[in-house]
Amino acid sequence: MEPIFLTPYFRPKIWGGRKLQTIFNYDIPEGKVGEAWIISGYKDDASTVSTGEFQGKTLRQLYHEQPALFGNPQAKEFPLLVKFLDANDSLSVQVHPDDDYAARVEHDQGKTESWYVLQADPDSYLIYGHTAKTKQELADMIERDEWDQLLRKVPVKAGDFFYVPAGTIHALTKGIMVIETQQSSDVTYRLYDYDRVDEKTGQKRELHTQKSLDVTTVPHQDPQITVKTTMDQAAKIKILVEPPMSPHFYLWQVDLAGEWQTSLGEHPYLLVSVIAGTGKLITQDEEYDLTIGTNLIIPNQLKDFTFTGDLRLVMSAPND
Ligand code: ZN
Repeated sequence: MEPIFLTPYFRPKIWGGRKLQTIFNYDIPEGKVGEAWIISGYKDDASTVSTGEFQGKTLRQLYHEQPALFGNPQAKEFPLLVKFLDANDSLSVQVHPDDDYAARVEHDQGKTESWYVLQADPDSYLIYGHTAKTKQELADMIERDEWDQLLRKVPVKAGDFFYVPAGTIHALTKGIMVIETQQSSDVTYRLYDYDRVDEKTGQKRELHTQKSLDVTTVPHQDPQITVKTTMDQAAKIKILVEPPMSPHFYLWQVDLAGEWQTSLGEHPYLLVSVIAGTGKLITQDEEYDLTIGTNLIIPNQLKDFTFTGDLRLVMSAPND
């Protein structure tokens, strides 16, 4: 049984840049590219298996055709989505619905997401939360374009972690790169777009003011995250978030300097992204090279495996 290595799906974005090529060495399309969907089974935007028996299949196909790889899961679609984002300019200020609202209004999953910051220019900040105390105050401030007073700016640097539950107003701003782990959903309500005009269409992008008002948590609440760190052999493991705080996923940062023999443990499969360094993944049958930008899934049949080298990994597992 082999690990499932994946090739990203890329999305051009007006706020994107070229760092997905310069940092991760990806073969990206021309122009401004904002997103690499590095582990995605989402509709037509799925990543593709790059080697082995299932080469060329999308993760979505694989999930449907080979459920045993994923421990014969309950979830009808691959439940998680991992992206690299290159914010060369600010993203629109947005909010996502929770599962109930998304099912009712959009026939999709809700979207709770999280950001682990890979790079941030000096003095960067992101938008996280708002200052309104009531829905009426939120509506009034939006109506009056009081964005500076309404939106909360949080300073940001490489290595910071943000958990972004559905209902949280948020946006990355210029000069930030993150790895984003989230529920597999594409339901985004755009609240404010800095009055920008799309170069191609000559139009402003659509806003979703009423839906944003419907789903925003008021007043804003900061999740109480305490990151726990443990050592396991040569691996320093940070639990960034886990259930019940995060109902849909477990998320870890692993810093490895040496060897780490490990296993799936209680998880049906694991999602792994290499965000720095080089090393190897060693299974009973084979050794695989790992380098910055490598993304893979450890399937259900691959119970025991070893990582070696100098690696920083971001790993996740579903709770669905
Ligand atoms: Zn978002």
